[in-house]
Amino acid sequence: MIFSKYGFAFHVGNDVALYNSLRMKPIYLSDNKFKKIKETVDKNVKLSQDLKCEIDELIKYKILVKEGDDEKILNFVKSVIPQPQINVCYFILSEQCNLACKYCFLGNNNQKKRKRFKKENMSKQTAMDGILFFIKQLESANFDENSKPTILFYGGELLLNFKTLVFIVNKINELKKSCKVLEKVEFDLITNGLLLNKQRLLKLNELGVNIGISIDGCNNETNKMRVDIGGNFVFEKIIQKLDLAKSLGVPVSLSVTLT
Ligand code: SF4
Repeated sequence: MIFSKYGFAFHVGNDVALYNSLRMKPIYLSDNKFKKIKETVDKNVKLSQDLKCEIDELIKYKILVKEGDDEKILNFVKSVIPQPQINVCYFILSEQCNLACKYCFLGNNNQKKRKRFKKENMSKQTAMDGILFFIKQLESANFDENSKPTILFYGGELLLNFKTLVFIVNKINELKKSCKVLEKVEFDLITNGLLLNKQRLLKLNELGVNIGISIDGCNNETNKMRVDIGGNFVFEKIIQKLDLAKSLGVPVSLSVTLT
């Protein structure tokens, strides 16, 4: 037996973690046992019986292999990796946001950065170009009929541009009839929820858009990062929107950031 050329060893205190980078299943040994096994393998002497259990594990997880096995393992792994395929499309409907969360990774909590965001929202023409580009990507990839392409509406706050969202969903639903790659398409959005109202919730539900609302916990304390431009907490307002969705029977999921 030899150590696989894809094998790696990390020393952690008095122990060592071994793994084959094509398998990513670690085996932990004491340093002493590892040294003994390594010496035995390097000198090509008979493997000791008192380490049989450990050696069997190293063989099982392809850390110890026979001459020529590396090539076979690599070919096997290559054969089960699916072809790369684009099947998610983000539509950034607006770069603007009505909140100024303290942890906003886009920089909505910073006046200078806020000014850099485009004032104009995504136009219907840009949306249409995006739809056609996405269809082209789906068609040119090795399209798997079982896969579900996803259209994700995002921002800023995407509900600042509700009309373009409705345009995109209607257009995709229209194209579905003639475009096989769109048959199983799903629509998701993640919103801070404040611009939801009865009419919009019912419309999104009718269009089959999955609604995700950002909320970080059950009280002001856990939501203290989520504030409006004036620095006011918005937790209570988000709860009102969740209650509204519940009363209308519109399902929503929660998008939670842990800090
Ligand atoms: S809702 Fe999202 S985009 Fe808007 S400020 Fe908060 S983290 Fe940033």
